[in-house]
Amino acid sequence: MLPEVTEESRPFWTGGFDQALLIHRCRFCRQYFHPPVGACFRCRSRDVGPEKVSGRARVAAYTVNHHPWFDAFPPPYVIAAVELDEQPDVRLTTCLVECDTEQVTVGMPVEVVFDEQDDVALPFFRPVTS
Ligand SMILES: [Zn+2]
Repeated sequence: MLPEVTEESRPFWTGGFDQALLIHRCRFCRQYFHPPVGACFRCRSRDVGPEKVSGRARVAAYTVNHHPWFDAFPPPYVIAAVELDEQPDVRLTTCLVECDTEQVTVGMPVEVVFDEQDDVALPFFRPVTS
């Protein structure tokens, strides 16, 4: 169940080994975008590449999963779309960890944590407690 890593998505899936959430950004129009591809979908520039972001985000939508899809995740757990603080129209689909499923709300601030699995470091998010 691990992601397929391509040349363009490798920074996203491996930046976590250096505690870095790397999101593709266009160097021409300065917009972030996800998933990572070789050209900016806004201005079609090919001058794009991964840049480190803060790892802070907010929950945009979520669903509580009660089915045991992953050995590593005993249900219930939360699958969420989170919006990056840098640019809220950049959304990542992720799992929320270290949280009570009853306490998840839309707009809740979260921060990235990395779960190292073989040769990838999966970016998950947990509530910001401070
Ligand atoms: Zn662009």
